[in-house]
Amino acid sequence: RQWCHELPKVELHAHLNGSIRDSTLLELVKNHGDNGVLISKDVEQMILEKGTSLRKCFELFAVYHVLATDHETVKRITKEAVEDFAADNCIYLELRTTPKKNEAKGMTKRSYMDAVIDGLKEVNTVDVDLYGCELTNKKNGDRRRKKIFVRLLLSINRSEATSSAIGTVNLAMEMKDMGVVGIDLSGDPTVGQWDTILPALEHARKLGLPVTLHCGEVRNSKEIQAMLDFNPQRLGHVCLLAEEDWERLKSLMIPVEICLTSNIMTQTIPLIEYHHFADLYKSKHPLSLCTDDTGLFSTTLSNEYYKAAVSFGLGKEEMFKLAQEAVNFVFANEDVKKHLAQNYEEAKARIL
Ligand code: 5GP
Repeated sequence: RQWCHELPKVELHAHLNGSIRDSTLLELVKNHGDNGVLISKDVEQMILEKGTSLRKCFELFAVYHVLATDHETVKRITKEAVEDFAADNCIYLELRTTPKKNEAKGMTKRSYMDAVIDGLKEVNTVDVDLYGCELTNKKNGDRRRKKIFVRLLLSINRSEATSSAIGTVNLAMEMKDMGVVGIDLSGDPTVGQWDTILPALEHARKLGLPVTLHCGEVRNSKEIQAMLDFNPQRLGHVCLLAEEDWERLKSLMIPVEICLTSNIMTQTIPLIEYHHFADLYKSKHPLSLCTDDTGLFSTTLSNEYYKAAVSFGLGKEEMFKLAQEAVNFVFANEDVKKHLAQNYEEAKARIL
């Protein structure tokens, strides 16, 4: 477990609101009080039962969004999420979030994202590289301080209208020089239509923005096939694929973001022994271990590596290679990849 903690790690699938600390959530609930929309006692109970089914997760996200969608809170949860990933020895974090409008708080999708960037600037336990070589938080030129590369993905929620989804893609383009590197499609997999979102994803592709899709969280063969036809840069989850779709995924070699704890807790996969990680790993399919929602599922990236090691019998060299190979799938540029590759070379001598 300690070795998994020391291992430098790359996180490619982390949702901002899913990564809120429990302590912060409970404080937000307390400050919010009972107001007819949320009743503190009910929310506390929901937090205790969190993450135990896909349906419960999405009920809870609706509550998180009531509690956390104002500029100050967005800033705070971003700062805390990055500090938590850095404390877990994550050297590259691709943090995704759904830009939200909240008219009551004077919030637009752009001002939501500005609050995220403000949160990154407030991180003070580690240096943050957000824009490229420039270190936004470099303190007193101390070369020994830890550093984390943070890049942002803008999530489109599956329930959005086409125009709103296109708006998110345009915002990502507008913020390309501010650390935004791609687009994610997420949200409740039982709602929304692929055809509604497709024009926005095609727009992203035309603009040169990489795309990752949540795929196969529920059985929906038609949609899974449409996602494979789209051939995105990465896919998340890929749990419930029919045999022919599974073979197609493998032949397309689309890198997969694997979220072990999330898939087990939501009961998308009944037991870790049956998790498709084993088959993909054996077939040398490109993949990367990820947390999905550290807060919601009470996990860390180290814990995901530990779980993989214990459940699938991987040794230190295999674990190291797994972490190192994730560098190939980041949406950041070649410069960042080179830095990360160098970090792994340095770490090899130290921990292997
Ligand atoms: P946010 O985008 O608000 O920062 O993070 C929470 C949102 O991410 C949720 O409302 C949901 O749209 C998405 N999300 C988080 N975890 C999952 C997951 O496991 N599956 C899917 N499909 N969406 C998720």
